[in-house]
Order: sequence, then structure tokens, then C-alpha cells
Amino acid sequence: MPQKAAESLKEKAKERLSAYLTDEGLRRTPERFAVLEAAYDMPGHFEPEDLIRKLKEGPLKVSRATVYNTLELLQQCQLIRRRDIGAGSVTYERALGFRQHDHLLCLDCGKIFEFCDPRLHTVEESMGRLLGFDVIEHNLTLSGRCQRSECGKKRAEQTEN
Ligand SMILES: [Zn+2]
Ligand SMILES: [Zn+2]
Repeated sequence: MPQKAAESLKEKAKERLSAYLTDEGLRRTPERFAVLEAAYDMPGHFEPEDLIRKLKEGPLKVSRATVYNTLELLQQCQLIRRRDIGAGSVTYERALGFRQHDHLLCLDCGKIFEFCDPRLHTVEESMGRLLGFDVIEHNLTLSGRCQRSECGKKRAEQTEN
């Protein structure tokens, strides 16, 4: 995403969080906004630990508890989405500026790939009609082995660490 688009997305996200906190009578602390910024600085999927690591580089001291609480808040105001990709831990991704997509998980290197297939929308609609169900979202992860040359190499590096 171009730098400028990413910045305006972040501004939009901050406004939404700000409005949400005011509505809920919660304090608009700098820590909460720091967590939001860190989440929106992540290139794609991230885990709470990634955020904690990133925030350590910043000027504000943000506790683990605050990171976890804020992740809950950000989910409630639909700024991030929790995705159960089955990578062994909870994975989040930002919700603004992302189009509907599903995931492929490599069981060897743990890398997550994204794909978008409009036929899934047809499945949602036809299953919804058939079963009398108002489908709101779906979660689909295909897992297997990626065919990248780096795949095995990356796994070897991870074992060394
Ligand atoms: Zn792989
Ligand atoms: Zn994704």
C-alpha cells in the first residue's frame, strides 16, 4: 500500500477508535492509540507478541495487559479482525482497507498466504438460502505445503533460533 494511503487509513482508524471510546465512556489514553498505530503498521497478519515487540521500540511504555485489552476493544469497533488460521496462535489483521479474503497456511514454514475467490460468496448465499440462515462471514483456511524454495530454509533458520 502506498505510504499516503496507509497514513489516511490510520487517521480514519484513529477517528473511529476515538469516537468509540467516547461513546463507551472509556478513556482515550495514548497507550490505546499506540496499540492501534502498531497494529496498522503491521504489513499483514500479526500476533499479540508481534505488537508487544514493536511497541517496545517506541517511546511509550505499554503493558502486556493493555495490549491484550486494546486488541479486544479494536475488535469490538471493527478495526481489526481475529482470524483463526490455525497457525498455532491467535492471528489478527486490520479490518479497514482490506478486502474479503481467505487464507492458505504452509504447515512447514508457517507462512500465511491470502487468496480471494468470489465463488465463496455464492456458497454463502446459496447455503444461507437453503438453510434459512443469515450468513455474516466465513472463515476458510486451506493448509498444506508451500512450494517456495525458501520454505525448507526458513524452517531450518527457525529451529536454530
Ligand atoms: Zn512453506
Ligand atoms: Zn488475511
